[in-house]
Amino acid sequence: PVLRVAIMGLGSYGERVAEAMRSCKKAKLVGVVSGTPSKIKTWQSRYGIPAKNCYNYENFDAIKNNPDIDAVYVITPNGLHHDEVIRVAKAGKHAICEKPMAINAKEGQEMVDACKAAGVKLLVGYRMHFEPKTLEVIRMRKAGEFGKIKFFQGLCGFTIGDPTQWRLNKQLSGGGSMMDIGIYAINGSRYMTGEDPVWVTAQETKTDHIKFKEGIDETIQFQFGFPSGATASCLSTYAMNNLDRFFLDGTDGFAEMQPSTGYGPIMGRTHKGELNQPITTHQTVQMDEMAAIIFEGKQPVVPIDGDEAVKDLKLIDAIYRAAKTGEKVEVKL
Ligand code: NAD
Repeated sequence: PVLRVAIMGLGSYGERVAEAMRSCKKAKLVGVVSGTPSKIKTWQSRYGIPAKNCYNYENFDAIKNNPDIDAVYVITPNGLHHDEVIRVAKAGKHAICEKPMAINAKEGQEMVDACKAAGVKLLVGYRMHFEPKTLEVIRMRKAGEFGKIKFFQGLCGFTIGDPTQWRLNKQLSGGGSMMDIGIYAINGSRYMTGEDPVWVTAQETKTDHIKFKEGIDETIQFQFGFPSGATASCLSTYAMNNLDRFFLDGTDGFAEMQPSTGYGPIMGRTHKGELNQPITTHQTVQMDEMAAIIFEGKQPVVPIDGDEAVKDLKLIDAIYRAAKTGEKVEVKL
């Protein structure tokens, strides 16, 4: 069967997903949840969405009685994901949620528990887990082609604009650059090395205290230690451009990717030469793969479920604690 999806939150990323889903083979956009009636109208005509599949934030629990929707994809500000995903689960629909899945590990775990209790799947929009060049580096690492992994570097950032946007509002964002873009380095350090960190250190710098208020991080550098002895050194920022770079080093080789997580073509090379796997539209592949995970029990190479997201949230909690206290924080994922 085709996975019939309603998108909740018709903002810029919701639009990108909707456009990408036009090319899906196993997933289809069939419904919307939005607080803006004019946007619902536009989306109805653009994607042929029937009125009976349109909801707002007050009445979307009624999706429970709609047999024509299988899953709801939550693409709203981070701080809203927790309550919305739990409502989706209670309505008996599979939940797909954008990253960061929640604003801390406790909320994340509650979402995992609610979806388990309701017997629905919880999947997170980790689009890089389906990106061909990323998957090739993971394959090479598993095959031992880099030898013993010693080091990972992840640099993720951009200069954020409009100071009034929700991304700079703690209640809605849960934090600053770490929640938004640093999470790519966190998640990437795990899928690139194949290990989960056991300790975290972090240092924060802030140059603009007006734009980046209390609880909104501008720039954080952080380090992870892994059980094998490998380490990672990463940077997350809302105040620098051209930072989209992964570097993995092993005793027998290396991989470098730049851009490493952007929407456009991912580019990179290893000690064996250029990575030349095909360029894909990440969101199209992600939604087809999610349909296969939900309906065919397919196992992704790197997990994309709620438990995977809680690991990243535990690391975000630890990074914030380490940055605040200056201490080395032990973690158990
Ligand atoms: P956006 O501001 O463009 O869109 C957010 C949408 O949520 C808007 O349509 C807005 O109207 C709606 N909304 C609902 N309730 C709201 C409220 N109380 N306050 C403010 N807005 C409200 O943001 P976006 O860039 O689309 O980001 C949405 C989510 O998608 C975030 O969690 C973000 O981290 C994630 N995202 C993921 C990727 C990715 O590559 N996976 C890329 C961009 C964004």
